[in-house]
Amino acid sequence: LPEPVKGAVAFDNVAFHYASSGDGVDGVSLSVPAGNTLALVGATGSGKSTLVKLLLRFYDPEQGEIRIDGHPIQSVTLRSLRQAIGLVSQDVYLFEGSIRENIAYGRPDASDAAIEQAARTAEAWDFISALPDGLDTAVGERGVRLSGGQRQRLSLARALLKDPPILVLDEATSAVDNETEAAIQRSLEHIGHERTVIMIAHRLSTIVNADDIVVVEKGRITERGRHQDL
Ligand code: ATP
Ligand code: MG
Repeated sequence: LPEPVKGAVAFDNVAFHYASSGDGVDGVSLSVPAGNTLALVGATGSGKSTLVKLLLRFYDPEQGEIRIDGHPIQSVTLRSLRQAIGLVSQDVYLFEGSIRENIAYGRPDASDAAIEQAARTAEAWDFISALPDGLDTAVGERGVRLSGGQRQRLSLARALLKDPPILVLDEATSAVDNETEAAIQRSLEHIGHERTVIMIAHRLSTIVNADDIVVVEKGRITERGRHQDL
């Protein structure tokens, strides 16, 4: 993708179905201007994560086109595409190593100050600094056991440290309590002014600040609007 990536995202009549189940998405068109926040809502199994996976090219559409800043994503390298997008997915992946290494994945040169800042924004700093070894604490099979919400917050810190023009949050706060979620939302509001954010959420409280909300039902977009209209 030509730098600087502004982060405009467009889906144009996109269709995709999983070979094994036949489920997927159909006729999806949406556009997110650079710097806007889009919320995707819809019942479980409606196709929200599938749209995110198509944006990251885990799969390619059967029909239609996805563009970033007007460039079809098939026409850019996977590396450049994925460099432009920070993803907090529903299945948080932490590898064997320290908390520092896990947050700084993809940014091995990051300073401790930058790592701490990302962790603070993700509401992860309190629990990290309470661990005897702090950022050096080992996670994974041989390390500390982290709760689902703690893992989500580490994953969010990783995405924030990457500082990408496009941030995709797939149920990124589903495992944290309401108070923590509210705190994360407050921090993300600042972050969101500088980049494009696509957030998938079940809780309505998560999406109050979205510029646009799209409702996905059975693989199709059935409604769109602002929070007060839906
Ligand atoms: P949730 O809110 O539960 O996360 P979702 O809206 O993200 O749901 P998707 O994960 O996009 O839903 O799934 C859409 C449909 O595709 C579902 O019917 C699901 O069962 C099916 N599906 C998802 N992943 C696969 C896969 N790897 N192989 C086959 N079918 C799949
Ligand atoms: Mg999903």
